Amino acid sequence: MSNSASLQERLANGGTLVVAEGYVFEFERRGYLQAGAFVPEVVIERPDLVKLMHEEFVHAGSEVVLAFTYYGHREKLRLIGRESELESMNKRALSIAKEVARSTGTLFAGNICNSTIYRRDDPENQKQVEAMFKEQIEWAVDAGVDYILGETFSEFGEAMLALQSIKKYGKGVPAVITMASAGQELTFDRIPFEDACKQLEDAGAAVVGLNCGRGPATILPLMKKIRQTCKVPIACLPVPYQTSEQYPTMQSLVDKETGKQAFPYDLPGHTCTRSQIEEFAKTCKEIGVNYVGLCCGNASHYIRIVAEIYGRKPPASRYSPDMSRHYMFGDKSQFSKYTTEDMVEFTKAVQ
Ligand SMILES: [Zn+2]
Repeated sequence: MSNSASLQERLANGGTLVVAEGYVFEFERRGYLQAGAFVPEVVIERPDLVKLMHEEFVHAGSEVVLAFTYYGHREKLRLIGRESELESMNKRALSIAKEVARSTGTLFAGNICNSTIYRRDDPENQKQVEAMFKEQIEWAVDAGVDYILGETFSEFGEAMLALQSIKKYGKGVPAVITMASAGQELTFDRIPFEDACKQLEDAGAAVVGLNCGRGPATILPLMKKIRQTCKVPIACLPVPYQTSEQYPTMQSLVDKETGKQAFPYDLPGHTCTRSQIEEFAKTCKEIGVNYVGLCCGNASHYIRIVAEIYGRKPPASRYSPDMSRHYMFGDKSQFSKYTTEDMVEFTKAVQ
């Protein structure tokens, strides 16, 4: 596959794409943006770090560089009193992502998301939301994106409005639309996700699916239904948290000790193990997920696993775990009995 292959070329004939999302959570964790508003202010303050994170995700296997404009829209910038910096923030984020994508042969994606103000049955409100999409789409197209991702819509109507806006203002760039489960197995406007995805497919989305909200255990049953219903490539990018039937989304998880909502402060107590991410990626492959990755909570050690299960060998695979070199748990012929047997026994004894 050539470095300049388009989104559709890469996904044709069962092709796959590994995609790292999760910039907001990772920069919040590192202390460069605030939980709550979750606005990508780091793009303005520390563009160098944004570039590094793009590079790190590519190093770990991401085949897309997603411009960090998630929640970089008019409503969120108004919320934090930085609306005047909306355009410059978007353009900066796009130029950083483009630079990394073009130098690494990865795809360069624009990014729009839920407006947080959408109201169904309110045409005036929808005009306002469309205007928010329009400005971000036009900046992305001007920057030369390969496609635009519209993501984390829990309301089908808003997802469709995003798709229609990309078609209307996107000058032909493909649209990837992923919805987020806010709790139930239905969109907020009460449509089964597979039906919502089918309607997005029929309306011209190049890829449809789910991201965010649910963890691997609770997103996969929905993905199976979407695979059965949709013909276009499907996307699955859950959050790497241990959701369950009782707690299907990261927002519903509660802290084990206090019983309080874990989102977002105490989510680290629910992070998936690497083995769980490995199982997740294997199941995605079996189901026929073409566009695969992780959302909020993602980090490079996870995306490398997904990439490897999907048959890739990213540069970071050079450092994938090899416990045969561990002095206690490794190859017994390489180390003395003192460490590989006596000390291992000792670690068990103190448990
Ligand atoms: Zn997310």
